[in-house]
Amino acid sequence: MKHKRILVTGGAGFIGSNLCERLLNEGNEIICLDNLFTGRKENIRHLLDNSDFEFIRGDIINEVYIECDEIYNLACPASPIHYQADPIKTIKTGVFGALHLLGLAKRCNARILQASTSEVYGDPQIHPQPENYRGSVNPIGIRACYDESKRIAETLFFDYHRAYGVDIKVIRIFNTYGPRMRSDDGRVVSNFITQALKGEKLTVYGDGSQTRSFCYVDDLVDGMIKMMESREGFTGPVNLGNPGEFTMLELAEKVKIITRSKSEIEYMPLPADDPTQRQPVIDLAKKELDWVPKVALEDGLKKTIPYFAEMIKKEKQ
Ligand code: NAD
Ligand code: UDP
Repeated sequence: MKHKRILVTGGAGFIGSNLCERLLNEGNEIICLDNLFTGRKENIRHLLDNSDFEFIRGDIINEVYIECDEIYNLACPASPIHYQADPIKTIKTGVFGALHLLGLAKRCNARILQASTSEVYGDPQIHPQPENYRGSVNPIGIRACYDESKRIAETLFFDYHRAYGVDIKVIRIFNTYGPRMRSDDGRVVSNFITQALKGEKLTVYGDGSQTRSFCYVDDLVDGMIKMMESREGFTGPVNLGNPGEFTMLELAEKVKIITRSKSEIEYMPLPADDPTQRQPVIDLAKKELDWVPKVALEDGLKKTIPYFAEMIKKEKQ
């Protein structure tokens, strides 16, 4: 495969660090740009000695001047507690970041992939969600800073494509989990695993009947690279997610069984605008990318739990 110079924004985060590692192993040169808001040097420490890997501490709300062949734009806090901590900054990251990276792609003639999200569907009225569903987002709610900035980023991508012929690829990622998630990330998989391993109560928001479809990170990274390498003119948006759908109570039960935890369930208030259901239709990814997720939830949890166990052990030392 041709050796490429690839910019990964958000490369020190959960998905970004897994992506950087894979792209580097495939013989590419990687520039990882990250402001370390939710990302960590720990996630990429093992890559820093590789002369084909370069870390730049920087923020995509500022213009970016780099020469590259491809751009993966992942920089954006993904967990509700983090993106809601400073909603204005989240919007600047989503919107100014997209503008700056599209400007860079135009200047360098680089192919650019946007990490969009199933959140563009909001609290979906159609189930499961195909790409042509236009969504149901509350524009003034507490999730809107994330959802709407991801929506406007998609708009910017398609306008740069139409106006300037920028070679764009847009993926809509559904809930993803795996090693290198932060234990204090606030997302359901990291919360439940950490709580179960520590013998604390598992915090279920609402009655736990809301559903999500969880994709293991290696499957997602496969799909992202397949999308980046897909045929010229295929822009997406394309859903990338595992169609296996579970209620939060079912997830809690699975985590308890695998960790052999005796933790009880503690019911907590449901956050505002929390989507009641979410499941991707992945026919387009199957057809265009020949991609299907391979890792079932139980197997993915078994691969993820030892990572959290190790982190908890380190915290105690
Ligand atoms: P993460 O929080 O672990 O990673 C995001 C990274 O972006 C972090 O390293 C953070 O420090 C960095 N970052 C944030 N704002 C930045 C800025 N202004 N400039 C430079 N760097 C910045 O989250 P993740 O789960 O790895 O998500 C990666 C991407 O995938 C995000 O764009 C997210 O919206 C998208 N996504 C993730 C999921 C999921 O389930 N994990 C689902 C849908 C979409
Ligand atoms: N959730 C939960 N307990 C937690 C964290 C989250 O029950 O400790 C619920 C949350 O209300 C939502 C689902 O799990 O319905 C997924 O939440 P997460 O923040 O992981 O992702 P998102 O809501 O962005 O899909």
